[in-house]
Formats: sequence, structure tokens, C-alpha cells
Amino acid sequence: MSLSEKVIIVTGASSGIGAAIAQVLAREGATLALVGRNVANLEATKKNLKGVKAEIVVADVTKDADSIVQQTLAKFGRIDVLVNNAGILGKGGLIDLDITEFDAVLNTNLRGIVLLTKAVLPHLLKTKGAVVNVSSCAGIRPFAGALSYGVSKAALDQFTKIVALEMAPQGVRVNSVNPGFVVTNIHQNIGIVGDEYNGMLQRAINSHPMGRVGDVREVAEAVAFLASSKASFTTGALLPVDGGKNNLTPR
Ligand code: NDP
Repeated sequence: MSLSEKVIIVTGASSGIGAAIAQVLAREGATLALVGRNVANLEATKKNLKGVKAEIVVADVTKDADSIVQQTLAKFGRIDVLVNNAGILGKGGLIDLDITEFDAVLNTNLRGIVLLTKAVLPHLLKTKGAVVNVSSCAGIRPFAGALSYGVSKAALDQFTKIVALEMAPQGVRVNSVNPGFVVTNIHQNIGIVGDEYNGMLQRAINSHPMGRVGDVREVAEAVAFLASSKASFTTGALLPVDGGKNNLTPR
């Protein structure tokens, strides 16, 4: 699955799944633009990519789409793949909805991806490149009490499918991975800690038919597959990486 000579932008490379994506893509020989806001965490990701061409791009995906593209082109001269991984969670259902939080979740998980994909697209058209979006099993099926997040990921999935159709004749592929529960900082970032987190983790373990949660590396391997020429006839696909959870009826 060699990705050597491929220049790949990975958003949210400073933590969790994005840091693992950077590692797996680096193993496959890719050249990486590591995007995030936390410089120290981006440096930590870069330090683990020994011997690989990688540059840090400090940027906010909700505001800095053009800057991300320009910085990547200035460093590497081309863009072959965009991995839209940066994302945040939201808490609660409709009755206790915090509309400010709803806006923030949609802004990061949807609007930011639309803006960055639009800015990168002219360069992907030149390289016949690909986009891989990191969505969620919450995009495929509903979960009560995760309104903002589920709506953002469902909309992202439709974005993936629409842009895939639009770009297919031009040879640009657009796909997503839809992970189940993976242990990262994403829950504690919105204050889900302690007993609340432990309860959520146990419910996640029980609700994945494979009887466990996922690992960041398992999501990253799926992203690398969709980014590579091994997936050359795959576009508009939502690939569940969720231990079978997408097959269950909602509960
Ligand atoms: P983390 O909280 O560990 O990482 C989130 C990443 O997103 C960080 O690197 C953060 O970077 C980046 N990020 C968030 N907002 C912005 C922004 N405005 N601009 C730039 N970067 C931003 O979470 P995960 O690794 O778990 O999440 C990665 C993706 O995986 C998300 O899209 C999430 O929805 C998805 N996912 C996660 C699941 C899980 O159970 N963990 C399950 C299903 C999907 P920084 O702080 O440096 O800005």
C-alpha cells in the first residue's frame, strides 16, 4: 500500500486518532502536513515519525483553510490526499441543547471540513487525489443524547457521498471511515470524566458486537487503505470501523 511520494494533510494530528493516522501514513512512506492548534502535541506527533518528511501546520480548521493549503504547498509543492480528522464532541439531547455548543460542533465537524475540502480540491484535481473523512458510527445510526455530534456526522456522511459523485468523473475519490468508540481525549475534552466516563466506556464495550472498543491504530489502517491506490475503485463509501455496531438496531 505504498504512499511514498504522496503529500497528505492530516487535520487533528496532534492527538488520538489523528496522531495514529500520521504514524500509519508515515510507515507507508507518505509526506505529511500535521495540522492542529496545540503546538506541543503536534511536536510530539512529529517526534514519533522518525525519518519521515513531516511539517507542522498550526491552524484552526474552522478559520484557516486557505492558510493550511498555502503552508502545505509552500513546504511540499503539491497535495495528494486530505484527511479530515479534526473533530469535537457535543453533550446532550434536544431538551437540554446548548445552542452555542451545537454551533461549535457543526462549525468544526462540518463547516470546517467543507471549507478545507473546497480549498484543497483544485490541488487534488491536479494530482487525481483523494479525501478521507473521519466520521463516526453516530453518522450512520442515531444515538439518543448525542444530538449535535450525530447531526454533524450524518451531514458529513452526506457531504462525503455528494462530493464523491461530483468528483468521480475527475478522478478524485472521497470516502469516510466511521469508527465506533475509541479511547482518546475526546470525551474528557468536554468534561466526561470519572464515573460518567467509566459508565460510558462500559456501555460502549457491551454495545459493540465484538465485545470491545476500537483502537486508534485500527481506524488509522482503514484511513490509509482509503487514501491509497488499493482503494482505486472505491468512492462515496462509508467504512464502519466499529466492531459491528452499525448493524445493530438503535437503542
Ligand atoms: P481527540 O480529542 O483526541 O483529537 C481531536 C483532534 O482534533 C485534536 O488533534 C485537535 O487538535 C483537533 N481539533 C479539534 N478542533 C480543531 C480545530 N478547530 N482546528 C484544528 N484542529 C482541531 O479526538 P479523537 O482522536 O477521538 O477524534 C478524531 C476524530 O475521530 C474526530 O473527528 C472524532 O469525531 C472521530 N471519532 C472519534 C471517536 C472516538 O470514540 N474517539 C469515535 C468516532 C469518531 P488541537 O487540539 O491541536 O487543535
